[in-house]
Amino acid sequence: MPYKFTFDLSRISRFFFTEITKAGYQINIHRKMGRTVQEIIKKFRIDEATGLNLSDAVLVIQDLVEIQARNLLERQKFLQTRKRALFLPHCSRKYMDNRCKASFDPNIPTYRCAHCSQDCLINKAVSIAEKKGYDVYILPGGSCIPKILKAKHYEGVVGVACGEEIKMAGELTKEMGIAGQAIPLIKNGCANTFFNIETLYSVL
Ligand code: SF4
Repeated sequence: MPYKFTFDLSRISRFFFTEITKAGYQINIHRKMGRTVQEIIKKFRIDEATGLNLSDAVLVIQDLVEIQARNLLERQKFLQTRKRALFLPHCSRKYMDNRCKASFDPNIPTYRCAHCSQDCLINKAVSIAEKKGYDVYILPGGSCIPKILKAKHYEGVVGVACGEEIKMAGELTKEMGIAGQAIPLIKNGCANTFFNIETLYSVL
Protein backbone atom coordinates (compact mmCIF):
# COMPACT_ATOMS: atom_id res chain seq x y z
CA MET A 1 0.00 0.00 0.00
CA PRO A 2 1.50 3.38 -0.98
CA TYR A 3 1.64 6.26 1.48
CA LYS A 4 -1.70 7.92 2.17
CA PHE A 5 -0.14 11.33 1.56
CA THR A 6 1.96 12.93 -1.16
CA PHE A 7 5.40 14.45 -0.80
CA ASP A 8 8.12 15.97 -2.96
CA LEU A 9 11.73 15.82 -1.83
CA SER A 10 13.13 16.45 -5.30
CA ARG A 11 14.06 20.07 -4.53
CA ILE A 12 15.73 19.38 -1.19
CA SER A 13 19.48 19.95 -0.98
CA ARG A 14 21.60 17.01 -2.11
CA PHE A 15 23.27 17.16 1.32
CA PHE A 16 20.00 15.82 2.70
CA PHE A 17 20.50 12.61 0.72
CA THR A 18 24.12 12.45 1.87
CA GLU A 19 22.79 12.60 5.43
CA ILE A 20 20.34 9.78 4.67
CA THR A 21 23.20 7.70 3.27
CA LYS A 22 25.27 8.34 6.39
CA ALA A 23 22.36 7.41 8.62
CA GLY A 24 21.93 4.17 6.66
CA TYR A 25 25.63 3.35 7.21
CA GLN A 26 25.32 4.09 10.91
CA ILE A 27 22.43 1.67 11.27
CA ASN A 28 24.18 -0.95 9.21
CA ILE A 29 27.51 -0.79 11.02
CA HIS A 30 26.69 0.46 14.50
CA ARG A 31 23.04 -0.68 14.69
CA LYS A 32 22.02 2.84 15.64
CA MET A 33 21.35 6.16 13.98
CA GLY A 34 24.06 8.84 14.07
CA ARG A 35 21.52 11.62 13.82
CA THR A 36 17.94 10.98 14.74
CA VAL A 37 15.28 11.26 12.07
CA GLN A 38 13.91 14.29 13.89
CA GLU A 39 17.32 15.98 13.74
CA ILE A 40 17.52 15.40 9.98
CA ILE A 41 14.02 16.80 9.51
CA LYS A 42 14.90 19.86 11.58
CA LYS A 43 18.26 20.46 9.86
CA PHE A 44 16.76 20.38 6.35
CA ARG A 45 13.37 21.86 7.37
CA ILE A 46 11.69 18.96 5.66
CA ASP A 47 8.24 19.67 7.03
CA GLU A 48 8.39 23.32 5.90
CA ALA A 49 9.87 22.44 2.51
CA THR A 50 7.38 19.70 1.73
CA GLY A 51 4.28 20.68 3.66
CA LEU A 52 4.29 17.30 5.39
CA ASN A 53 3.20 17.19 8.99
CA LEU A 54 5.87 15.98 11.40
CA SER A 55 4.59 12.41 11.79
CA ASP A 56 4.36 11.89 8.02
CA ALA A 57 7.83 13.42 7.56
CA VAL A 58 9.21 11.06 10.22
CA LEU A 59 7.65 8.09 8.43
CA VAL A 60 9.13 9.04 5.05
CA ILE A 61 12.62 9.82 6.38
CA GLN A 62 12.70 6.73 8.58
CA ASP A 63 11.82 4.64 5.52
CA LEU A 64 14.56 6.29 3.44
CA VAL A 65 17.14 5.49 6.11
CA GLU A 66 15.94 1.90 6.52
CA ILE A 67 16.00 1.34 2.75
CA GLN A 68 19.54 2.68 2.59
CA ALA A 69 20.60 0.37 5.43
CA ARG A 70 18.96 -2.62 3.76
CA ASN A 71 20.65 -1.81 0.44
CA LEU A 72 24.02 -1.82 2.16
CA LEU A 73 23.28 -5.09 3.89
CA GLU A 74 22.33 -6.78 0.61
CA ARG A 75 24.91 -5.12 -1.63
CA GLN A 76 27.59 -7.80 -1.68
CA LYS A 77 25.05 -10.56 -2.28
CA PHE A 78 23.47 -8.50 -5.06
CA LEU A 79 26.82 -7.91 -6.77
CA GLN A 80 27.30 -11.65 -7.08
CA THR A 81 24.03 -12.15 -8.96
CA ARG A 82 23.83 -12.60 -12.71
CA LYS A 83 20.17 -12.87 -13.68
CA ARG A 84 18.65 -9.54 -12.73
CA ALA A 85 15.48 -7.52 -13.19
CA LEU A 86 14.58 -3.88 -12.76
CA PHE A 87 11.08 -2.92 -11.66
CA LEU A 88 10.01 0.60 -12.48
CA PRO A 89 6.77 2.39 -11.56
CA HIS A 90 4.56 3.35 -14.52
CA CYS A 91 3.70 6.62 -12.74
CA SER A 92 7.20 7.94 -13.51
CA ARG A 93 6.44 7.98 -17.24
CA LYS A 94 6.50 11.44 -18.79
CA TYR A 95 2.92 10.98 -19.95
CA MET A 96 0.14 8.96 -18.39
CA ASP A 97 -2.18 9.24 -21.38
CA ASN A 98 -1.94 8.20 -25.03
CA ARG A 99 1.02 10.50 -25.61
CA CYS A 100 3.03 7.71 -23.95
CA LYS A 101 3.69 5.28 -26.80
CA ALA A 102 4.52 2.33 -24.55
CA SER A 103 2.67 -0.88 -25.34
CA PHE A 104 1.10 -2.84 -22.53
CA ASP A 105 1.51 -6.58 -22.11
CA PRO A 106 -1.34 -7.72 -19.83
CA ASN A 107 0.07 -11.23 -19.47
CA ILE A 108 2.97 -10.14 -17.28
CA PRO A 109 1.71 -7.34 -16.78
CA THR A 110 4.13 -4.61 -17.87
CA TYR A 111 4.44 -1.61 -20.12
CA ARG A 112 7.15 -1.72 -22.78
CA CYS A 113 8.72 1.66 -23.40
CA ALA A 114 8.77 2.81 -27.02
CA HIS A 115 11.39 5.50 -26.24
CA CYS A 116 9.18 8.25 -27.62
CA SER A 117 10.59 11.03 -25.38
CA GLN A 118 14.26 11.53 -24.69
CA ASP A 119 13.56 13.43 -21.48
CA CYS A 120 11.25 10.78 -20.01
CA LEU A 121 12.67 9.38 -16.76
CA ILE A 122 11.46 5.88 -17.58
CA ASN A 123 13.05 6.03 -21.01
CA LYS A 124 16.40 6.89 -19.40
CA ALA A 125 16.09 4.15 -16.79
CA VAL A 126 15.08 1.49 -19.33
CA SER A 127 17.95 2.41 -21.65
CA ILE A 128 20.56 2.27 -18.88
CA ALA A 129 19.28 -1.02 -17.44
CA GLU A 130 18.86 -2.84 -20.74
CA LYS A 131 22.43 -1.94 -21.73
CA LYS A 132 23.53 -3.56 -18.49
CA GLY A 133 21.61 -6.73 -19.29
CA TYR A 134 18.59 -6.30 -17.01
CA ASP A 135 15.09 -7.46 -17.84
CA VAL A 136 13.01 -4.33 -17.28
CA TYR A 137 9.39 -4.15 -16.16
CA ILE A 138 7.34 -0.97 -15.99
CA LEU A 139 4.72 -2.07 -13.55
CA PRO A 140 1.15 -0.85 -13.25
CA GLY A 141 1.30 -1.77 -9.54
CA GLY A 142 3.30 -3.65 -6.93
CA SER A 143 0.84 -6.57 -6.85
CA CYS A 144 2.41 -7.91 -10.08
CA ILE A 145 5.77 -8.52 -8.44
CA PRO A 146 5.16 -11.94 -6.78
CA LYS A 147 3.93 -13.43 -10.07
CA ILE A 148 6.98 -12.19 -11.99
CA LEU A 149 9.47 -13.32 -9.36
CA LYS A 150 7.91 -16.79 -9.15
CA ALA A 151 7.88 -17.21 -12.93
CA LYS A 152 11.31 -15.82 -13.78
CA HIS A 153 13.60 -16.94 -10.95
CA TYR A 154 15.75 -13.82 -10.83
CA GLU A 155 18.80 -13.84 -8.58
CA GLY A 156 18.83 -10.09 -8.10
CA VAL A 157 16.22 -7.36 -8.42
CA VAL A 158 16.32 -3.60 -8.30
CA GLY A 159 13.06 -1.87 -7.51
CA VAL A 160 12.01 1.75 -7.81
CA ALA A 161 8.93 2.51 -5.76
CA CYS A 162 7.63 4.44 -2.79
CA GLY A 163 9.08 3.48 0.58
CA GLU A 164 6.02 1.55 1.75
CA GLU A 165 5.99 -0.62 -1.36
CA ILE A 166 9.73 -1.19 -1.15
CA LYS A 167 9.34 -2.50 2.38
CA MET A 168 6.65 -4.96 1.29
CA ALA A 169 8.66 -6.13 -1.72
CA GLY A 170 11.69 -6.46 0.56
CA GLU A 171 9.85 -9.00 2.69
CA LEU A 172 9.05 -11.00 -0.43
CA THR A 173 12.60 -11.00 -1.82
CA LYS A 174 13.89 -12.01 1.61
CA GLU A 175 11.49 -14.98 1.72
CA MET A 176 12.52 -16.00 -1.79
CA GLY A 177 16.27 -15.59 -1.19
CA ILE A 178 16.57 -12.91 -3.89
CA ALA A 179 19.14 -10.14 -3.42
CA GLY A 180 17.36 -6.80 -3.60
CA GLN A 181 18.34 -3.20 -4.05
CA ALA A 182 15.85 -0.36 -3.89
CA ILE A 183 15.60 3.21 -5.05
CA PRO A 184 12.85 5.13 -3.28
CA LEU A 185 10.70 7.64 -5.07
CA ILE A 186 11.52 11.13 -3.85
CA LYS A 187 8.27 12.49 -5.27
CA ASN A 188 5.25 10.25 -4.93
CA GLY A 189 1.66 10.45 -6.17
CA CYS A 190 -0.33 9.00 -9.04
CA ALA A 191 1.59 10.71 -11.87
CA ASN A 192 4.90 12.45 -12.55
CA THR A 193 6.57 10.62 -9.71
CA PHE A 194 10.32 11.06 -9.53
CA PHE A 195 13.45 9.17 -8.58
CA ASN A 196 17.11 10.03 -8.88
CA ILE A 197 18.48 8.56 -12.11
CA GLU A 198 22.10 8.93 -10.93
CA THR A 199 21.26 6.86 -7.87
CA LEU A 200 19.70 4.20 -10.08
CA TYR A 201 22.75 4.19 -12.35
CA SER A 202 25.09 3.65 -9.41
CA VAL A 203 22.96 0.81 -8.03
CA LEU A 204 22.54 -1.15 -11.28
S1 SF4 B 1 9.64 7.35 -23.34
FE1 SF4 B 1 8.61 5.36 -22.95
S2 SF4 B 1 7.62 5.50 -20.95
FE2 SF4 B 1 8.23 7.57 -21.59
S3 SF4 B 1 6.39 8.43 -22.47
FE3 SF4 B 1 7.56 7.50 -24.18
S4 SF4 B 1 6.92 5.36 -24.39
FE4 SF4 B 1 6.10 6.18 -22.45
